[in-house]
Amino acid sequence: MSASPARSTHTLEAGRQASLDSYAIVDTAPERAYDDIASLACAICATSAAAITLVDRERQWFKSSIGLEHSETPRSESICAVAIRTPHELLEVRDVLANPNIPMRPTDRDGALLRFYAGMPILAADGQALGTVCVFDNEPRTLTRAQREALGALARQTQHLLELRRYAMQQQRLLHERDTVARKLEHDRADLQRRHDDLVHVASHDPLTGLLNRAALEKLRHRPEAMQRLEAAGYALSVVDIDHFKQVNDRYGHLLGDRALRAVAEVISSCIRHGDLAVRYGGEEFLLVLPATPLSGAFEVAERIRTQMSTLALPFQVTVSIGVAGGDPQLDTPEQVFDRADQALYRAKASGRDRVIADNTSRV
Ligand code: GH3
Ligand code: MG
Ligand code: MG
Repeated sequence: MSASPARSTHTLEAGRQASLDSYAIVDTAPERAYDDIASLACAICATSAAAITLVDRERQWFKSSIGLEHSETPRSESICAVAIRTPHELLEVRDVLANPNIPMRPTDRDGALLRFYAGMPILAADGQALGTVCVFDNEPRTLTRAQREALGALARQTQHLLELRRYAMQQQRLLHERDTVARKLEHDRADLQRRHDDLVHVASHDPLTGLLNRAALEKLRHRPEAMQRLEAAGYALSVVDIDHFKQVNDRYGHLLGDRALRAVAEVISSCIRHGDLAVRYGGEEFLLVLPATPLSGAFEVAERIRTQMSTLALPFQVTVSIGVAGGDPQLDTPEQVFDRADQALYRAKASGRDRVIADNTSRV
């Protein structure tokens, strides 16, 4: 079954209106290029008025007009609305008053009734008629063939202007989309970088104390440029071990034990300088790497750490034993220096704990 005439007229008009809307031109500011076309229409056809009209939902709106009083009129008074029904033909009305079927009753700037009308439809790229390039006069008259052809040419020029407008809008939309995608990419990249940094931090730090973990130390050990820098300047190692920590856990519980570990780690962090490394090396053992530091300097740092244990805000006393060793980078491997620091720690434990012992075989 075919659609009713009223329904199909409605559908056709909806398509035409959608086409007009796609140019987003109705209610835009005057533009020289359109005004030039209206002036040319006026001059070529030798009429008192001309316009570029666009037939909108309830009105016809003038993108450009010369000699006319209004910038828009109701659609019910628009001859252009009639003209666009035959999209490929010029509509020419010698005398409006002699054609009762013609709706137009517009006036010119002086209020005189317009009697003559000729309008050539402007077509969209999809073939829809959007409005007209039209001329008016207040005397009945006709156009010459050359004038009719000129109106056709001017309507086509208007179509080109509309297509240019649409192309510029598309470009702007694409640019906007590209900017949006670029911004999103940058946001995602920054997000990825943040996650990567977080992962690197998690992988290299001990979650309980926030100090470097053993994996980070291993990584450093296998970074030749870092080791070369360390060896070039010399360094000292200290091994810090909490005394009788098992008893702390046993007496006060694991949670307080953890709190004590964090407190000790905080003291260690506060006693070292920028460039020194503090590593949670084992359960309650910490390793300090002090670049460009003589044994005496490392001993002082260790003493500071040990004495500050009495200031911890804990319900029990914590003490630490510390072994310190210096390395001659030309002669010792880091493992040898570590062994000596560990042996010094052993001696500190054996001789009563809560003390710092420096390795007396260290050559620096
Ligand atoms: P010493 O003075 O000889 O060092 O005795 P110690 O008790 O400190 O040494 P030991 O090696 O016997 O015990 C270390 C304890 O540290 C055992 C373990 O329960 C505790 N520990 C290790 N890691 C953690 C931790 O992450 N949290 C808590 N609360 N305790 C830990
Ligand atoms: Mg211990
Ligand atoms: Mg231990």
